[in-house]
Amino acid sequence: MIFTVAIDGPAAAGKGTISRAVAQRFGFRHLDTGLLYRAVGVLGGDPAEAARRLTPEDLERGDLRTLEAGQAASRVAALPDVRAALLDFQRRFARGEGGAVLDGRDIGTVICPEAEVKLYVTASPEVRAHRRWLEVGGDEAKVLAEVKERDARDMGRADAPLKAAEDAAVIDTSSMGIDEAVEAACVLVAERLHAR
Ligand code: C5P
Repeated sequence: MIFTVAIDGPAAAGKGTISRAVAQRFGFRHLDTGLLYRAVGVLGGDPAEAARRLTPEDLERGDLRTLEAGQAASRVAALPDVRAALLDFQRRFARGEGGAVLDGRDIGTVICPEAEVKLYVTASPEVRAHRRWLEVGGDEAKVLAEVKERDARDMGRADAPLKAAEDAAVIDTSSMGIDEAVEAACVLVAERLHAR
């Protein structure tokens, strides 16, 4: 069976939690594609070269989840050569045998427009910044500024900008608990699986 769940949306909207839960519920493989860009960002040197040479060990680094790594990721992610170097791996993961969940910014629009399920998970910048602040601490206003800066860069870039695919179901988690959001996503996946 080939079955792809594409989950896109801005930072800290709940994509990661929803993706992991969907993958676990249905026994699908999961790829957090943000880690690819984060690893390229923190590796330094020529970003396109780093993207071409990326290894599975690079994705295990302990420093990929920081705010700085997120900013570095969003800068290298605007480079077309970097995106091109990471395309095949993501496509193969998406269309390999067995179900796959990929979360990112361009999964439903560029990586896998043929995905059986497309979700766009979002929430207001304030809610997302508050969630991120609970994880990383520090100055909440600074975290909000960082979220807005990354949104602007990801939505404004010329190559594969962040946007909902036309046929994506939108899940706004601003005033939803995570369990409710996971349930909403699982219902959509189950409907599509049973319709096959
Ligand atoms: O999802 P995460 O916050 O880990 O992503 C880090 C950055 O990587 C994003 O801000 C975005 O610039 C980039 N990214 C992307 N396309 C993806 C996944 C992440 O451009 N599919």
